[in-house]
Amino acid sequence: MFDTGVVEEADAAGVAALVGWLAGVGGDVDDGARIDLLRALEDVKAACVAAQAKTAADFEASRIALRAAAGVPKYRRNRGISSEIALARRDSPHRGSQHLGFAQAMVDMPHTLALLERGLLNEWRATILVRETACLDREDRTGIDAELCADPTTLDGLGDRALTATVREHAARRDAEAMVKRASKAVGDRRVTTRPAHDTMAYVNALLPVDQAVAIQAILGRDADSLRAGGDERTRSQIMADLLVERVTGISAVVGPPITVNLVISDESLFADGTDAAHVEGYGPIPAGLARHWVKDRNNLELRRVYANPTTGALTTMESVSRCFPPGLARFIDVRDRYCRAPWCDAPIRHRDHIVEHQAGGPTTADNGAGLCEACNHAKQGAGWQSQPVTQKPGERHSYRFTIPTGHEYTSTAPPTPTPLDIYMPAERWVRTVLYEAA
Ligand SMILES: [Zn+2]
Repeated sequence: MFDTGVVEEADAAGVAALVGWLAGVGGDVDDGARIDLLRALEDVKAACVAAQAKTAADFEASRIALRAAAGVPKYRRNRGISSEIALARRDSPHRGSQHLGFAQAMVDMPHTLALLERGLLNEWRATILVRETACLDREDRTGIDAELCADPTTLDGLGDRALTATVREHAARRDAEAMVKRASKAVGDRRVTTRPAHDTMAYVNALLPVDQAVAIQAILGRDADSLRAGGDERTRSQIMADLLVERVTGISAVVGPPITVNLVISDESLFADGTDAAHVEGYGPIPAGLARHWVKDRNNLELRRVYANPTTGALTTMESVSRCFPPGLARFIDVRDRYCRAPWCDAPIRHRDHIVEHQAGGPTTADNGAGLCEACNHAKQGAGWQSQPVTQKPGERHSYRFTIPTGHEYTSTAPPTPTPLDIYMPAERWVRTVLYEAA
């Protein structure tokens, strides 16, 4: 192990010695040890981020105190501090002020800082926590820090997109009014822009209200799937791009039935002005007020209910005897899992996978099913991968356990649905989570 004598002093020379020592890490060890090493090195990176944040905040405080003592007027005391930090980090001034902003945020977010120090959160994920709470006041920000990071297991296994969604959900709940105001003001910013891409390609970007954006993506995906099912040999992405051009330029007309936008919302948010965020499939959480606005504003709505346990928010199961997951069961798994179930991955679900393979006697049930993206589905088929649903008590969130070839074991648990009402309800009100379709 590292010779602790070298880092007696927690100074740059001690850290530099650690850097030199790291260059010798690795070598002739077995694969299990390599997985452990990758994990430990990730911890070191996160701990470095925490140490940099603390150092930057101390640097700023010391600079400002020195200038105050020297009689520098208040408005000039913080000048250039972020640039100094940028230079020290070999980064642009813009990034320097971001680094300083991050360091300042860590003062209000002690639990996030503690997770970084312990290697349980990486820099990017801590940045998501800082970014998504930047619009809140200090009290709300500190509150969210405690809610999400006091317990290190709260964010365990969430992909970056799911983490962003979780923080937004908490922000929406704490400052719902401001979120709705921002959302309705943001509609005024809708626009279409173009920017260059590689090899004489270009991006067409449309900034749209979320319902319209999700509808466009879903319509193109649905029609591409049906063309491919009919023998079209282009890829799904190619067909979606071609359809977009055809339809915008008016060469071809939209075909097929109206598209569905799925929204999961608690009954309290829908009917009783609750602030629990709603979840739009394919996008993520939106403020309850905006969801209510959609529901009120739309005609031809069909309400469909998905049953959820009133205390845990776990969706109840459905069963089928067939080998493939039938549409109802597949849709149930999509709503339950939201994104790919592999820990840390939050790619869209492409496969409803048998956790215990069908050939090995695995049944076609919600319990033995998990939504996976293409890549994770392929990974799972690699030699030496094994998975098994975790036996659940009624009402527990669905989870399964899997082992990779080195013997390291991981668990995947379905995300919770919106928090249930915290009061006694008669049995028929247990129908708590409503899925609605917008025509
Ligand atoms: Zn995945």
